[in-house]
Amino acid sequence: MSTVSFRGVSKHYGPTVALDGLDLEVREGEFVSLLGPSGSGKSTTLNLLAGLLDADAGEIRIGATDVTLLPPERRDVAMVFQNYALYPHLTVFENIAFPLEVRRPRPDAATIREKVERVAGLLGIAALLARYPKEISGGQQQRVALGRAMVRDPKVFLLDEPLSNLDARLRIRMRRDLKALHQALGSTIVYVTHDQSEAMTLSSRIAVFDHGRLQQYAPPAEIYDRPANAFVANFVGDRETNFLDGALEGTDGELAFVTALGRIPLGRRGSALPSRAGLRLGARPEAIGVEPAAGAELRVALAELSGADLFLTVQGRDNTEVVARADPRAVRLEPGATVRLRFDPTRLHLFDAESGAAVSHGS
Ligand code: ADP
Repeated sequence: MSTVSFRGVSKHYGPTVALDGLDLEVREGEFVSLLGPSGSGKSTTLNLLAGLLDADAGEIRIGATDVTLLPPERRDVAMVFQNYALYPHLTVFENIAFPLEVRRPRPDAATIREKVERVAGLLGIAALLARYPKEISGGQQQRVALGRAMVRDPKVFLLDEPLSNLDARLRIRMRRDLKALHQALGSTIVYVTHDQSEAMTLSSRIAVFDHGRLQQYAPPAEIYDRPANAFVANFVGDRETNFLDGALEGTDGELAFVTALGRIPLGRRGSALPSRAGLRLGARPEAIGVEPAAGAELRVALAELSGADLFLTVQGRDNTEVVARADPRAVRLEPGATVRLRFDPTRLHLFDAESGAAVSHGS
């Protein structure tokens, strides 16, 4: 295993900037996710690291080695793709053994057997070694693809949306297994995903991309609680963040943000803010509590039950609305009910309305 570093790395396709001046350091043994919407530059970053693409500018290192100009086979990385393409005419054993069979000098048969069996044991597929790919499930095939990467014992694992072909339940189980596997192996992993919950649960740090630019690079909790900008706040989380325009009120005492949904106490002092004008409030659904209030001017427009949570769309003046999360066993509210909102000041973010950059966080 090894460290990885990108310094000032850029890649263009004609006029399209696929990656713009990326600086990123991955520590030894880290699980780093590259997260972002489609077209944000994640695969470009991974392919540059694998050596499948050449950078226009900048330097890429794996450990102490400058690999910027090295061909893929000399970088000692193993890549697992979304389409894990096993060899259909080879057994599971032969598929996993393949990278060792083509190595020169070729390891002896006993060494190959020992390595394949160790990897298969770690992945829980030791009983399947004699089967062919079509005789095992999609999840098991994905494990075989991982095994084929692991058997090489590479410096860095590169995983490109490896779970996205699996159904939702299986994906969550494989995610757990992948995390356990990483804990057991301690390998350096760079993982591409557009699925924020996958990135949140798996990673030691998440690199969030948008339009070829790194937006934030931090541990999951920090990405979630202290998003660097409005894009990150909105992209990370099961539901979209609510954004409200308004104006600050109060100076030395406690600040409030006055919006079309009413006055929202911010639980912080004026002196804590670098700027006071052109701000936008960001609040995730879980930062907003809802309670019935006879005669209030806010109304429930929509109630969506999703098992554990009840998501309520609440509308105010000018049809301004927010989505709040409630406990369905504690709150029973139907569309049309009049309500009051309670914003948790520790979970409120203020952004610059123009640039989107974070100005202040509640915690
Ligand atoms: P992601 O993996 O986040 O979906 P990519 O890294 O694949 O994004 O792409 C980043 C940008 O580069 C996108 O705008 C994409 O359209 C563009 N791009 C990627 N590959 C090519 C290519 N071979 N030719 C032209 N444009 C490309």
